[in-house]
Amino acid sequence: MTARPVDPLPKVWDPDAAIGEMLKGKKGLVVGIANEHSIAYGCAVKLRAFGAELAVTWLNEKAEPYVRPLAEQLGATITGTLDVSRPGELEAVFDRIAKEWGRLDFVIHAIAFAPKEDLHGRVVDCSSEGFAQAMQVSCWSFIRMVKLAEPLMTDGGVLITMSYYGADKVVNRYNMMGPVKAALEASVRYMAAELGPRGVRVFAVSPGPLKTRAASGISHFDELVQMAQERAPAQRLVDIAEVGRVVAFLVGGASSGMTGDTIYVDGGLHNMA
Ligand code: NAD
Repeated sequence: MTARPVDPLPKVWDPDAAIGEMLKGKKGLVVGIANEHSIAYGCAVKLRAFGAELAVTWLNEKAEPYVRPLAEQLGATITGTLDVSRPGELEAVFDRIAKEWGRLDFVIHAIAFAPKEDLHGRVVDCSSEGFAQAMQVSCWSFIRMVKLAEPLMTDGGVLITMSYYGADKVVNRYNMMGPVKAALEASVRYMAAELGPRGVRVFAVSPGPLKTRAASGISHFDELVQMAQERAPAQRLVDIAEVGRVVAFLVGGASSGMTGDTIYVDGGLHNMA
């Protein structure tokens, strides 16, 4: 008997078409859109394109005119402000999700903050207050989101945060965010172990350098960009759509055998010595 020939791939392979509507019916919260360059926006666009329904938040009133139109374009059915450093705001968002949706399938946490004075200095010199603030906004807020999401993820779920290679290796000028992202990646592993039995999976996605508002806070960020373009096997930067596609894969059932990982989307840069 001759084997059935494998269908040939289309000449121009459209990765979005290949993923299709695999997220249809899934409901998720996306935190971290500041503008159309935000990694969170790249994730939201792909998640929506693959059929998910979204809740979208913005930091404060100042951010609203930039983010609300994007949330509307994404057809977000729950929207509002969320500053994770203000007591009660995270809880209020999850209360609303519980009331309006009654359940939750995924959370995208794509936020980070560190006071400039601390971020631009040596780790050795950082202040107690600055370190605590960076940890609270960039790491603890994810832990808290996992806690609040757990009872709503009645049919399993996926929670994803954004990290960076500076968590693992010393990257010049990433400074204090290195230890903060290391704590974030370790938290992902521990929470994945804790929630795995309930079918809830937790990931960190680690993009290569992208020109966003948060990135502009890192001094000499242009050097990181140039280095990535020269040294990554892909010889280019990744874009937010590429990050979004990986996030969609993780949220979808195709990744059901994975949890607790930090997944690089950096054109292979982290593999280089
Ligand atoms: P961005 O500026 O577009 O997004 C950062 C977001 O964090 C903004 O929407 C901002 O409002 C939000 N934020 C800050 N403090 C907050 C608070 N107290 N409460 C709620 N939200 C708050 O930049 P981005 O590059 O898209 O950053 C998203 C994530 O990706 C961050 O965790 C960042 O560390 C990570 N990351 C970025 C890069 C890069 O090169 N841009 C690379 C790897 C990882």
